[in-house]
Amino acid sequence: NQQIKLAKRPEGTPTKEHFDIVDIPINEPNDGEVLIKTVYLSVDPYMRGRMSAGKSYVKPFEVDKPINGTIVGEVVTSKSDSFSKGDLVRGMFPWQRYNVVSASYVEKIDPSIAPLTAYLSVLGMTGLTAYFGLLDIGQPKEGETVVISAAAGAVGSTVGQIAKIKGANVVGIAGTDEKIAYLENQLGFDKAVNYKASNFKQQLKKACPNGVDVYFDNVGGEVTDNVLSLLNDFARVPLCGAISTYNLKPGEDYGPSILPKILKTRTTVKGFIVSDYQEQFPEATKDLANWIAEDKLSYEVTTIEGFENTPTAFLNLFEGKNKGKQLVKVSET
Ligand code: NDP
Repeated sequence: NQQIKLAKRPEGTPTKEHFDIVDIPINEPNDGEVLIKTVYLSVDPYMRGRMSAGKSYVKPFEVDKPINGTIVGEVVTSKSDSFSKGDLVRGMFPWQRYNVVSASYVEKIDPSIAPLTAYLSVLGMTGLTAYFGLLDIGQPKEGETVVISAAAGAVGSTVGQIAKIKGANVVGIAGTDEKIAYLENQLGFDKAVNYKASNFKQQLKKACPNGVDVYFDNVGGEVTDNVLSLLNDFARVPLCGAISTYNLKPGEDYGPSILPKILKTRTTVKGFIVSDYQEQFPEATKDLANWIAEDKLSYEVTTIEGFENTPTAFLNLFEGKNKGKQLVKVSET
C-alpha cells in the first residue's frame, strides 16, 4: 500500500516537493468497515487552498498527514452488510492505493448508468457545481449571453453545455487554441476566445456583441476584469472559483478593480460552494444523467496513469494541461 502526504505547506506555486509518497501496510477491516482498492482518484483546484494553513470553507490538510479527496474504488473485503466484494463505490478518502473505511462513509455507484469516470466529473462534484452555479445563480434566459472562464475544464465545459440546453448564446474562455477548437466544434459553444492571445480583450468584445448577461467565473484576476467590463444591466455572476489567484503569495492579491462596474450595472455577484445545495444533489444528478442519455451533455476526462503521478496530475491543473476533468487512474477494476 502507498499513501501521499502533504510534506510541507507551499508559498506560491506548489511543486512535487510538497508531496511525500510513503509505503504503509494494508489493514484488515473490522466489523462495519470495508477495504477499498482505489481505481480512480480526483485532483481538484480547491485542494490548493487546503494545502495552506489559512481558514476557508474546508479545513486545511495537515502537514505529514495524508491528503484526501474523492475516490472511486472497488470493495475488496467487506465486513458490512451494505457492501459486497466487487461493489463499485465512491467517497472522500485519503490518497492511498487501499483504504479501510467505515461503511457509513461509502456510497455505492452504478457503472451501468455511466462510466466510473463520470462519477468523479459530470455526475460528481464538478457537474453539480456547474448545475447549481449556473441554474440557481446565473439563471440564463433564452438568447442571453453566457460567458464562462476555464471553459474547457471540468466545471466550465459542463456549464457551457447546460447553458446551450437553456438556449443561451455561449462564449467560452480558455488557454489554448486546441481547447478553443474543442469548445466550438465538439461542445457546440457559439464562440470561444483564448485569454493568452495578445488581442484577447478585443476578441472577447467581438464575441459578445450584445454584452454579457451571465458570467460564470472560475478564474478571477485579469480575465475576469475583462469580462466584467462587458456586463449588461442586471447581469448575474456566479463566483465559482479564482484559480488565477490560488498560487499568489500574501500581498500579491489581485485587487477588485471591477467594483464600480458591478455597482453601475446593479449586477448580482454571489459566491457559492456546491455543498450548499447538498439536499438537491439527487434531483440534479438525475437531470445530468438524462442529458447525457439524450446526448445533450458530453464530458471529457484527462487521465494520468499511476498513483505515484497524482502530484503531477494536480500540478497540471495550474498549467491548464487538462481538458475536462483531470483524474488519476490507479488500478483496473
Ligand atoms: P478545471 O478542470 O477547470 O481545471 C483548471 C483549469 O483552470 C485549467 O485547465 C486551466 O485551463 C485554467 N487555469 C489554470 N490557471 C489559470 C490562470 N492563471 N488563469 C486562467 N485560467 C487558469 O478545474 P475544475 O473544473 O475542477 O474547477 C474550475 C474552478 O471551479 C476552479 O477555480 C475551482 O476552484 C472552482 N470550483 C468551485 C467549486 C465551488 O463549490 N464553488 C466546486 C468545484 C470547483 P486553461 O488552459 O484555460 O488556462
